[in-house]
Amino acid sequence: MAGNRTFTMIKPDAFAAGNSGAILKMIEEAGFKIVAMKATQLSSELAGKFYAVHKERPFYADLCKYMSSGPIIAAILEKDNAVEDFRTLIGATNPANAAEGTIRKIFATSIEANAVHGSDSDENAEIEGNFYFNQYERVK
Ligand code: ATP
Ligand code: MG
Repeated sequence: MAGNRTFTMIKPDAFAAGNSGAILKMIEEAGFKIVAMKATQLSSELAGKFYAVHKERPFYADLCKYMSSGPIIAAILEKDNAVEDFRTLIGATNPANAAEGTIRKIFATSIEANAVHGSDSDENAEIEGNFYFNQYERVK
C-alpha cells in the first residue's frame, strides 16, 4: 500500500524569487497537509549528503553549489498516495517537459533551478524527512 507522507523542499531559486507562499498555496489546495516545516540553508556538504545518490552524475557539483546557494523551505507533507500525487503536482524534472499547471511548469527556470524537490519513494520520503526533522518537530 502506498504511504501517506512525502518530503519536499522549496529550492533556493523559488525561495529567492518570493514564490514560497504561492507554491505552499498550491500544495495545500492539492490536499496536502503540512506535518512539519522550516526555513533553513544547507551547507554544500549537507547538500552533497542529501543528494548523495547523484554523486557520480556530471551535474552533482553544480547541484550541491546551487542547493546551498540560499535559503530553502523543507517540509513533510501528508495525503493519501503522497509520493506519487506530489510528483504529479510538481511535474517533470525539466520544466520544459513539465505538464501545464504543475509547480515546475509555473515556477522553475531550468532543469537545475526547478523550484521544488519531491521524494521519489516512500522509503526516501522517510529518510529525507528524518534528515531535516526530529520527532519533536513533527505533528503526530
Ligand atoms: P528532485 O529529486 O529534486 O525532486 P527529480 O527527482 O525530478 O528532482 P533527479 O533526477 O532526482 O530529479 O535530480 C535531482 C535534481 O538534480 C533535479 O531536481 C535538478 O535540480 C538537478 N538535475 C537533474 N538533472 C540535471 C541535469 N541534467 N542538469 C542539471 N541539473 C540536474
Ligand atoms: Mg529525485
